Amino acid sequence: MEEKSTDLRILVEPLLQWYGMCARVLPWREDPSPYRVWISEIMLQQTRVEAGKPYFERFVAALPDVYALADCPEEQLLKLWEGLGYYNRVRNLQKAARLVVEQYGGALPSDPAALQSLPGIGAYTAGAIASIAFGLPVPAVDGNVLRVWARFTASRADIGSPAVKRMVQEQLRQVYPAGRAGDFSQALMELGALVCLPNGAPACNGCPLQRLCRSHAAGIAHELPVKAVKKPRRVEERTVLLLVCGDRAALQKRPETGLLAGLWEFPSVEGKLGEERIFELLREEGLSPIAVTPLPPAKHIFSHVEWHMGGFWVEAAHMQGPFSWVDVTQLRGGYAAPSAYKVYHKLLCERLDSHNNSSIK
Ligand code: SF4
Repeated sequence: MEEKSTDLRILVEPLLQWYGMCARVLPWREDPSPYRVWISEIMLQQTRVEAGKPYFERFVAALPDVYALADCPEEQLLKLWEGLGYYNRVRNLQKAARLVVEQYGGALPSDPAALQSLPGIGAYTAGAIASIAFGLPVPAVDGNVLRVWARFTASRADIGSPAVKRMVQEQLRQVYPAGRAGDFSQALMELGALVCLPNGAPACNGCPLQRLCRSHAAGIAHELPVKAVKKPRRVEERTVLLLVCGDRAALQKRPETGLLAGLWEFPSVEGKLGEERIFELLREEGLSPIAVTPLPPAKHIFSHVEWHMGGFWVEAAHMQGPFSWVDVTQLRGGYAAPSAYKVYHKLLCERLDSHNNSSIK
């Protein structure tokens, strides 16, 4: 395979020099403790760096160490994560924090295998913590790093393949510079994030590796990396009800397992229902709907499924049914709403605000 003939040692020095001059100032880099590196890496799995900064600062201000995270009440924890989505990640953070307290005296282990035995920590995150926080030569290989590697070596191997990922980890492990492991991990990620950009758009003219890069020399950088096409996401139709009685709205808790497990949500049913069917359904549930009016549709994309939602505003005569009836302060406060519902959450809060204002007048 082509990539075997490219010696990765030649990229180490120019990359570290560039990183020394061009690295972004980021809150988790100021004090790269194992705890802070861990939190930042989990947050950044699904969030852009700029968008993640305020979440990170708020999270570590509220929960500054493993003990605080282990002891945090669930509602507060979910609230701190609200807007980031993927709530299982923060639940796993807490499970792992409790194990770290019980098994490691509150200090994250440096051994990558021990790190990977904790919930939510895979090979990439273990590599990031081990190299950045503990200075160990353990590669942290994510999509950014795979892209840089594929272009630098002009490899057409499928970077979605676990075997290719393991090979890249091994190749990089052999060139980690002594005493600069954390900088090297971050330099690779940073180059992928700022210069060797995705979607066929590498900024080769500003790249410290330009003279050494095989795909640049061959004029094929924009064709790489190669990634096999994934199966399309499953589309799920849903009908969401903003069920309101006076200044209160109905919420229900999702099941304790599966997608958005245990979170509060608006009453909703699978499929796209019309107004008549909604009237019937609510009456079957023992409710007394007065009016049902359609709302704009909304869409939310999870990793494997897309929700295509139709919404209805439903006025009920009484607060009945298997729901919690909450006011607008509770909606904005203690009840973490999954970001899948953010369009309807915003709309509901606005309408309840204007209902409350008109009642005061
Ligand atoms: Fe990526 Fe271009 Fe740099 Fe090669 S020269 S590593 S393709 S940005």
